Amino acid sequence: MSSKNFKIAALAGDGIGPEVMREAIKILRTVKKRFGVGLEITEAPIGWAGIDAAGKALPDATLALCKRSDAILFGSVGLPDRDPTVRKEERPERAALLRMRKEFGLFANLRPVKLLKALAHACPLAKERQGDGIDILVVRELAGGLYFGQPKHTEEIPGGRRAVDTMVHTTPEIERIAHVAFKAARLRRKKVTSTDKANVLENGVLWREVVTRIGTQYPDVALDHIFADNAAMQLVLRPTQFDVLLCENMFGDILSDEAAALGGSLGMLPSASLGVASGGKTFGLYEPAGGTAPDIAGKNLANPIAQILSSALMLRHSFGLDDAAAAIENAVGKSIDAGYRTGDIFNPSDPSARKVGTGAMGDAIAAAI
Ligand code: NAD
Repeated sequence: MSSKNFKIAALAGDGIGPEVMREAIKILRTVKKRFGVGLEITEAPIGWAGIDAAGKALPDATLALCKRSDAILFGSVGLPDRDPTVRKEERPERAALLRMRKEFGLFANLRPVKLLKALAHACPLAKERQGDGIDILVVRELAGGLYFGQPKHTEEIPGGRRAVDTMVHTTPEIERIAHVAFKAARLRRKKVTSTDKANVLENGVLWREVVTRIGTQYPDVALDHIFADNAAMQLVLRPTQFDVLLCENMFGDILSDEAAALGGSLGMLPSASLGVASGGKTFGLYEPAGGTAPDIAGKNLANPIAQILSSALMLRHSFGLDDAAAAIENAVGKSIDAGYRTGDIFNPSDPSARKVGTGAMGDAIAAAI
């Protein structure tokens, strides 16, 4: 029981966003009653819904709401087929999501990938490679590296053009993401595998040096280093060797998507993007790993579990409500064990599986809390 009142900005966005957000809010209301925690949820438009409501992908009122909230629960934004006359800078992916990452200094992206045993059929790897189930946390640096380094441009040169991107990581940047990884490992199986290209990149040498130094502050956590290309291979050969996989921005972008494929469905995968902790509080944006899934939007087909598990990450990382977070995660496991399946994780040859829609999956999870 906590006497604090946590303010949540719930931004459903586009496509399946509103459908899966409805279920996450259902779960949060259940948790509120069951655990007596103060959760104040305020919904606001973003993405194309923001453009429709207020003329921009991130309306001023939505941003103001986020600023006075303790965390953001985000759906997804972007509809590729909507109005091609809207410039890319003003389209939701850039004007809402990237802007939000910048605005709130979100530098750490956490993507837990968990393959539940009952969903082994949905994993592309052979059963013998899945061991007792896959359970990896990818920790990705989100604010530095090749995507943001300067100079960054394309120029004309004799005989063609030359494109330049620059990879930059500073010591403090590496230190803060390493701390996130080691702290997360302490709550799991106490192992960090750090990826780099120390064999060919200056960035890799610095990365390895700094991560090793920070590692000495966590003597209870095992640390090993792996070249990023080998990490890509090991993820499909022996994924069970990984606990926390620490990556710089671009390697993390690629490896977290590869790891995501092991989880069975995008509809199962939550994520957290965290800012710098201040005054004992960590602001974060929590969202499913997938997008707006226009192909299934509005049909009660979307799997709400990624959104629901994102809300569990929010309770744990921004509010410190570990018991409530674990209750949601257990309820998801129980519902899967009881046979509830949305289309993306349904296996017709499993006699215990029951195909349900978005709302019924949310109801089953709420009932299991
Ligand atoms: P997507 O993730 O929306 O869909 C890829 C596939 O996964 C589709 O077949 C979809 O049906 C399925 N899928 C995704 N989530 C699911 C769920 N919860 N349940 C069941 N199936 C699910 O990727 P896309 O089609 O490449 O992108 C669609 C739009 O979403 C684009 O505009 C893209 O820019 C945007 N997008 C937004 C975010 C974000 O807001 N964070 C992330 C990724 C993509």
